Formats: sequence, structure tokens, C-alpha cells
Amino acid sequence: MDEPQQGVPRDQWPACGQGAPRERRGSVMAGELVGFVGLGRMGSAMAGRLLDAGYQLCVYDTQPAATADLVARGARLAASPLEVASTAETVLLSLPTPDIVKAVTVGEGGICRGNAVRTVIDLSTSGPGASQIVSKGLTERDIALIDAPVSGGIAGAKGGTLALMISGPREAYETTAQPILKHFGKLFYTGEKAGLAQTAKLVNNLLAAAALVISSEGMAMGVKAGLDPKILLDIINVSSGRNSATQDKFPRSVLPGTFDFGFATGLSYKDVRLCLDEAEAMGIPMIMGAVVRQILALTQAKYGPDSDFTSIARLSEEWAGVEIRG
Ligand code: NAD
Repeated sequence: MDEPQQGVPRDQWPACGQGAPRERRGSVMAGELVGFVGLGRMGSAMAGRLLDAGYQLCVYDTQPAATADLVARGARLAASPLEVASTAETVLLSLPTPDIVKAVTVGEGGICRGNAVRTVIDLSTSGPGASQIVSKGLTERDIALIDAPVSGGIAGAKGGTLALMISGPREAYETTAQPILKHFGKLFYTGEKAGLAQTAKLVNNLLAAAALVISSEGMAMGVKAGLDPKILLDIINVSSGRNSATQDKFPRSVLPGTFDFGFATGLSYKDVRLCLDEAEAMGIPMIMGAVVRQILALTQAKYGPDSDFTSIARLSEEWAGVEIRG
């Protein structure tokens, strides 16, 4: 039987294991309805790509302004995550923190109570610990969790060139998630274990933040010594010191002094904290990582959690008494 108790709300269904498992309907095709919760910088860009591909959307965000453009393009606006989950079989999330992901999915009145939802795809960076809790809560209601944290920033989200790290039940990935996620970029399936993809994402973001910290120190020192920052970057970017900060963040957001790369200091700090917490729980020292975490704490204390994380360079500028501008 497809529905364990036809006409009975999901919150009154028997606990996991008491009802026969429902069959998955198979691939979600363009034209079908997909739910999307969290339409911020990343979510709105990815949702826009799904509209471009012909999907119908049911959207929810706590900030009404976040969904306005999508609604103008035909997306249906829901009043809560629960309404999204009672409308669409597949619900995508792009939310800021693990606590919000847990509340929206398995919290009181969360997505797990929806009558329609069968698969939740979490595009947020929410860490392996939250993934394991959410996966357990959803599985008990016969809903699959696919972790699919992304890398590539707003430009990648808009252009469909993100890297997506994916874990969760293979069947739900192949039949449901893959046809949707292919519109966002390159897919890397890491395995069935809940949270595996989140670990890959945390390691990547630790490295990205570390590159920004050390590049800021080097660039400030070079400029103080009299080097033109544009020439110094040109040298580094064809030499062995090149990295994602020198190749992308400095030219785009530090040299013009705009500090608008599109990734909040508070989110980067969250990612590095999550990574170090996981490492600590595994008994693995992360000495360099601890320094990066402190630099992010300083940046957040000085410029606020909503500042762009390229503001890390402003700390080095201040300590060196220079501006890295070109
Ligand atoms: P954002 O703050 O721009 O967007 C988050 C959205 O979630 C906001 O619109 C907010 O109103 C909404 N929201 C918050 N609580 C909610 C709730 N309870 N219910 C519904 N909506 C809620 O953040 P972002 O930069 O788009 O990042 C989203 C996720 O993607 C984060 O986990 C982040 O770490 C990750 N990420 C961001 C980038 C980037 O470059 N910005 C890159 C890769 C991964």
C-alpha cells in the first residue's frame, strides 16, 4: 500500500517500522512540483534554475522579500515549511545553520509532518552531526534525507557550476535527487552514510577560509613593502602560492574594496566551528584550523556576522596599516 493510512495526517501515522514502506514514484521530471525552503543568496539562485528548467516550485522563507522574485515568476508561496511538505514530494532546503535545519525538518510542526513529502534534499552546510539527527527523524517517517551541500558561491549557483557533495540512500539519490541536482552543477556521490557529504564540505570550507586568512597576511605584507597588489596577485596566480582566495576573492572583492563576495562571515565561522567540533569529537588535533577559527571570530566581532567573509582581509590591512587595492 502506497499510503500507510489514507486520509490520516502523517503525524498520526504509526511509528517507523509499523507500516509497510511506501514505494518511491521514480524520477522527478521537469514540469513536476518541487518544494524549496530557504530562498536566500544561494537558495534563490538554485530555485531560479529549476524554474528555468521547467519545474514548478512551492517556496517558503521567513523573509517575504526572499521569495518575491520567484513568486513573480510563477512559484507558489507557502505559509510554512509544513505547507511545502504537504504540497511537494521532494523538498529542497538552503538554510543558514544546523539548528535551523533541525527545527525546520524534525522540529515541532516541521517538514517531517507533511503529508506529501518523500525526500528532503539539504543543500545547506549543516554538518554531519545535524545530518545524523535529521536523517533519523525523517527515516522514522519514511522520508529519505539526501545531503547535498554545495561549493562555488553565488556565481556558481546562478550559472549551474556548483560542486555538489552528496550522501544518503542511493535509491533516493538516483531516482529523485539526481535529476534535480544536475541543474546546479557537478555531482559527487560520496556514499549512503548520513553526513558523509557534509564532512567533505566542512573540510573544503576550512581550506577555503584558511586560504583567505593566509593570503590576506601575505598580500598585506607585500603591499606594505611597496609591491603593487595587482602585480603581486598576477605573480602568485601563475606561481605555487595560488589558491581560491588569490584567484577569485582578491580580484573580485578585495582589490576593488567592495568586500561583497557573497558569503557571510557568520556562515564561514559556523562552517569552521562545525569542522573543528567534528575533528575534536574524533580526537584529531587541528592546530591551523584553530587559528583560522579565531581569525573568523575576530572578523565577526569587528565587522559583524552579516559582513562578507572577505572582510578577513581588512584585519590584515589594519594590522599592516595598508589597503590592498588595485
Ligand atoms: P542566506 O542567509 O542568504 O539565506 C538563508 C535563507 O534562509 C534566508 O533567506 C533566511 O531568511 C532563510 N531562513 C532562515 N531561517 C528560516 C526558517 N526557519 N525557515 C525558512 N527560511 C529560513 O544564506 P546563503 O548564503 O544563501 O547560504 C545558505 C546555505 O548555503 C548556508 O548553509 C551556507 O553555509 C551555504 N553556502 C553558502 C554559500 C555562499 O557563497 N553564500 C556557498 C556554499 C554554501
